[in-house]
Amino acid sequence: MKSSVVRLGVNYFDDRDCFDHIASKILFTGCIDEFFDYNLGRLAYRSLRFEHERLEMESYQGNAVVNYNEAAIPFTRIIEHKHFDFGTQAFTLITREYPQPLSPGAEPYYPVNDDRNMRLFSQYKELAASRPDVIFGGRLGLYAYLDMDDAIAGAMELALNELNASL
Ligand SMILES: Cc1cc2nc3c(=O)[nH]c(=O)nc-3n(C[C@H](O)[C@H](O)[C@H](O)COP(=O)(O)OP(=O)(O)OC[C@H]3O[C@@H](n4cnc5c(N)ncnc54)[C@H](O)[C@@H]3O)c2cc1C
Repeated sequence: MKSSVVRLGVNYFDDRDCFDHIASKILFTGCIDEFFDYNLGRLAYRSLRFEHERLEMESYQGNAVVNYNEAAIPFTRIIEHKHFDFGTQAFTLITREYPQPLSPGAEPYYPVNDDRNMRLFSQYKELAASRPDVIFGGRLGLYAYLDMDDAIAGAMELALNELNASL
């Protein structure tokens, strides 16, 4: 290992040359298409808009998360925050999540796993094979919808494979 410095709040793309040379291997967890400068085209991502509301009632939905999948309802879920930590306030705070296409500056939250994008992703995967110095991981590096348990299991498997390979 060439460096053990931890730097937070930095964007890899702001100084690629520097980050590419501080370690012999890179774990990249950003967007795989951006990593390759969108050479093959842009992958689509879905973003979200969050709408927060304070309600003067003890409980709105009695549960931390309620999903909505009806076409007529514009949001996909409502989070009621106090139920995560058993809050006892007289009021409650909720957040509605509205799906949004990705606009400049927005966060790419989810992949769009349709045929066009999956084909494009497999081409990026082939490109990735030409960079053995880079491990592509996480929801953006693998262009995958991952729940937390998938993300953690995937990270542990990746680490195990890397450690075994270096023995
Ligand atoms: C809105 C939302 C709600 C979710 N709700 C649930 C849920 O209820 N239950 C559940 O199980 N899962 C949920 N998930 C899924 C879960 O949160 C994710 O799958 C998980 O956090 C993915 O972890 P990750 O490490 O792959 O990616 P991330 O958590 O996105 O981590 C990637 C890291 O890479 C860094 N990074 C990216 N690009 C760059 C760059 N250019 N330079 C430097 N650093 C960079 C980011 O800063 C970040 O720290 C939700 C996800 C979202 C988006």
